Amino acid sequence: MLVNATNMLLKARDGHYGVGQFNINNLEWTKSILLTAQEMNSPVILGVSEGAGKYMAGFKVVAAMVRAMDESLGITVPVALHLDHGTYEGAKACIEAGFTSIMFDGSHYPIEENVAKTTELVAMAHDHGLSIEAEVGSIGGEEDGVVGAGEVADPAECAKITALGIDFLAAGIGNIHGKYPANWKGLDFDALEKIHQATGNIPLVLHGGTGIPEEMVRKAISLGVSKINVNTECQLSFADATRKYIEAGKDLQGKGYDPRKLLAPGAEAIKATVREKIELFGSANKA
Ligand SMILES: [Zn+2]
Repeated sequence: MLVNATNMLLKARDGHYGVGQFNINNLEWTKSILLTAQEMNSPVILGVSEGAGKYMAGFKVVAAMVRAMDESLGITVPVALHLDHGTYEGAKACIEAGFTSIMFDGSHYPIEENVAKTTELVAMAHDHGLSIEAEVGSIGGEEDGVVGAGEVADPAECAKITALGIDFLAAGIGNIHGKYPANWKGLDFDALEKIHQATGNIPLVLHGGTGIPEEMVRKAISLGVSKINVNTECQLSFADATRKYIEAGKDLQGKGYDPRKLLAPGAEAIKATVREKIELFGSANKA
């Protein structure tokens, strides 16, 4: 059931668990995530980066595929279709295309410009029934060419953006996109507490969920994180299972070259990763 992400995240905040955002890249990814969320009776957020949107031939294609698949598979758990790290133009395009949620990432703009653009998009998103996430400060690592340095957001800027009426907030607390370096210092829980206090209990979003130790994830949830983004981890498990299939020569046996067979181990691996994360975040049976 396609819905915006506001209620599922308020419930998660009040129930002290997290909802996973799993990024999608194609039909197999989408199907694996939807089926697993349904099987575990968990709410779920499908994240779409601008790059993934382009890859899938546009946001309209993505919205049409997700809506049709949600219906055809008989998915009854709450599903939000969410733009991940949207530009101003991308956010507008997703509102038009039928997404149920957007993130506007104005973190690289001076705070005044981030405020101005976020204000405009909050009104537009809410007019159309979408939820909106905004971001303050920069989160480290690289996502579709956007590089950061594991920065920590300023609580005063977080309060300023929150006051614009956004539904959930992404704020850097030392987290990084992609694989974490060996010398990573871990999440900055002091910063998280300060941000949580400054932002009046708005659901907070933890980006770069891949590779954060489980204890840190649980602690972050206990300190106000309600949404955790997982992207790289599904990519790694998909690649790993696909490599094993090829290395075992299975594509050369019988009709093992059939794409439905070739992509099956990867699709199953994504399910396993999503299942693990839903357990860790505590959102099973919270649909
Ligand atoms: Zn992110």
